[in-house]
Amino acid sequence: MTTIATNLQAVRARIATACAAAGRAPESVRLLAVSKTWPVADLAAAVDAGQNAFGESYLQEALPKLAALTERVAPARLEWHFIGPLQSNKTRPIAEHFDWVHAVDRPKLAARLSAQRPAECPPLNVCLQVNVSGEATKSGCRPDEVEALARTVGALPRLRLRGLMTLPEPTPDVAAQRARFATLRTLRDALNAAGFALDTLSMGMSDDLEAAIMEGATLVRIGTAIFGARQ
Ligand SMILES: *Cc1c(COP(=O)(O)O)cnc(C)c1O
Repeated sequence: MTTIATNLQAVRARIATACAAAGRAPESVRLLAVSKTWPVADLAAAVDAGQNAFGESYLQEALPKLAALTERVAPARLEWHFIGPLQSNKTRPIAEHFDWVHAVDRPKLAARLSAQRPAECPPLNVCLQVNVSGEATKSGCRPDEVEALARTVGALPRLRLRGLMTLPEPTPDVAAQRARFATLRTLRDALNAAGFALDTLSMGMSDDLEAAIMEGATLVRIGTAIFGARQ
């Protein structure tokens, strides 16, 4: 087996163990392989090991990789998630080439993505990024802004609002990790109680996926534990 195949197996085992500890079914958590900075050959190794959903953060890097991998693998087998920060002058290629966008945090970006989503594609799956650890510099809307943003996004014809995403400041303190993830879950529950039907909590990375799964993550975004440490 390649290192990537071995690593993927280990990550899947961590997810299964965390799900068992949380009393959840292992199929309730999807694994997104975060392949930013890694070459197409590494993504292909992950595909050979059964992985089909990939997360990329940098548009310029992602587009040629997406094209090259799609040429090697039947396109229907792949799912592409844009997880990086959004800039309004770069929304069009994202709307054209990706299946999901995780970091929508402003109405203007959402409106552009909806307007630019090609008619022949299904609606673009969207998560709203929420800043749950309070840093002024971080992207993501404030928790008290999320309901208004959800109403705006939910009304856009070419977007499908799926859930919430967060990227908290790293901390080794598991109780603090869980508290932040719990904040996102509580926000999701409040939105669903207000009439939304959000099925996705995009939270948890290589170092904190267990805490995220304990708090209800449905999609974990894992880079380092699959592909190795980035430069
Ligand atoms: C890079 C990145 C990840 C993956 O982080 P790892 O610690 O390498 O698992 C997850 N989410 C986002 C938004 C990222 O930019």
